[in-house]
Amino acid sequence: MICDDAGLLMHAYLDDELDAADSAAMARHLDQCAACKARYETYTIMQKALSEPSLYHRTPDALRARWNTPTASATPTPLPIRRRVPVAFAAAAGFAAAMLLSTPAWLHWLPSRGANDVVAQVISSHVRSLQGEHLMDVVSTDQHTVKPWFEGKLDFSPRVKDLASEGFPLVGGRMDALDGHSVAALVYKRRLHVINLFQWPVDGSTSASATTQEHGYTVIRWTGDGMRYVAISDVNEGDLRQFVLAFQNDANPAMTR
Ligand SMILES: [Zn+2]
Repeated sequence: MICDDAGLLMHAYLDDELDAADSAAMARHLDQCAACKARYETYTIMQKALSEPSLYHRTPDALRARWNTPTASATPTPLPIRRRVPVAFAAAAGFAAAMLLSTPAWLHWLPSRGANDVVAQVISSHVRSLQGEHLMDVVSTDQHTVKPWFEGKLDFSPRVKDLASEGFPLVGGRMDALDGHSVAALVYKRRLHVINLFQWPVDGSTSASATTQEHGYTVIRWTGDGMRYVAISDVNEGDLRQFVLAFQNDANPAMTR
């Protein structure tokens, strides 16, 4: 690796967004190159300083309440989503922007009580999954590959369904964490849009499905078969409902062992 490449990959390396090969190459370069190593150390200090909790403040309740009150004319505006960000762009976007996106700071702007807290975490996780290479740990359209991948990583067996025939192809999965649980995240596509479906076991209580629109995302939560499910995407609400119905439909069987 040459210094120019190291410079381009530096921010992604700091955010732990490189794949294993690039990450190893980067580590080797930093071992051998004093100049890049010095730069890396400076960035590490900046990263630490910017994640200092005292820099972040809780949103005042009044603003939070206003934010949560839908107005008659309010229509959700889809946020632009960075998909796979080219490394060159990520580097050019600058350190400050990278920090804003990679620190939990913006979580403080989201509602944070009860179910809203889960919704906020789901949105955050969805957005993070669309940055860099964090979308999938296992890349496969085959449920017979995706489901076994979770074995031994979770203390439950997620329901994995291929919904390609319904227009929602399974593309992979990853481990994630929500609300203090290790969860399975299944990744589906709807045309060019990504749908994240999170699931984890829940004790007894069942609740009706709930739909939330926030920051341009639709979030649908439901429970069933002892599992809690949360689906999120920037597809329109109708499409996401259709996805949830397809997943719930017993005519689309979950893979069984
Ligand atoms: Zn160098």
